[in-house]
Amino acid sequence: MTEPQDAAARRAIKPVICYPVDTLPAPDMTLLENARANLKKIDEVLVPPRDAACFIVPAGHFFRIKSVEGSQVGDLNLWARDDLSERFYSGKTRALYGTHITTGQRMWSSFPQLRPMATITHDTLGWYGKDEFGGSVHDVIGTRCDPYTHQLLAGGQYHHCCHSNLTRALARHLDVPVAEAEQHVHDVLNVFMCTGFTRDTGQYFMKASPVRPGDYLEFYAEIDLLGALSACPGGDCSSEHSSDAAACYPLLVEVYRTDADFLDALQLPPRNGYDGTHGT
Ligand SMILES: [Zn+2]
Repeated sequence: MTEPQDAAARRAIKPVICYPVDTLPAPDMTLLENARANLKKIDEVLVPPRDAACFIVPAGHFFRIKSVEGSQVGDLNLWARDDLSERFYSGKTRALYGTHITTGQRMWSSFPQLRPMATITHDTLGWYGKDEFGGSVHDVIGTRCDPYTHQLLAGGQYHHCCHSNLTRALARHLDVPVAEAEQHVHDVLNVFMCTGFTRDTGQYFMKASPVRPGDYLEFYAEIDLLGALSACPGGDCSSEHSSDAAACYPLLVEVYRTDADFLDALQLPPRNGYDGTHGT
């Protein structure tokens, strides 16, 4: 294919950031830091390897996803507890912050609410930054491993991909058929997963997670949340997923309450202010 004469000049144009976040409503991290000084654990759920579990976090509470026993990545779905049509919007969260998220950044919900669902308040892997391959942890670029893509690429029926694990867990929690629960499962936050895009082909890559037992990612629940977490069949995702080959470990979800004064003064983030008329 022949290039236009000004090809080099066109390529040399400097990029601009699509969504500068200076005007994005920011969390009050000082307030949250003070609140997290008084956390008391009120609940915990152990997510078995190659399976998923649901958990509830009331607004104003905190939750931690914790590595126990061995290096393991988790696929997280979040919904507004009383309206499952409002759910985590991985693509918009990525558009706002970039490929991976950490302390001070938020998981945003779908249209028309587009409001913060959860704010990351502590990340014991915050030290990792970006490695020489462009990899980092806690991505919003992957989707979730699923049996359909596995069928396309490798054939066969595998039932413990994160998509199926999340579907079964939600079906149990809501007491509905799996086909109904599946409609609510969405693109995840890949907790502890170390990923990036290859520089040459731009392909999605994964590598062994740097997570070790004791590490955790902590969130503040901005609204009443229903969560589902899958302990990915890929284990630490150093080689493959969508099979029973990798060593897999459980993940622990812990729910914490802070002091009553904080909860009394709680203000929920408003729904997005767009009027929804779309020019009609
Ligand atoms: Zn997975």
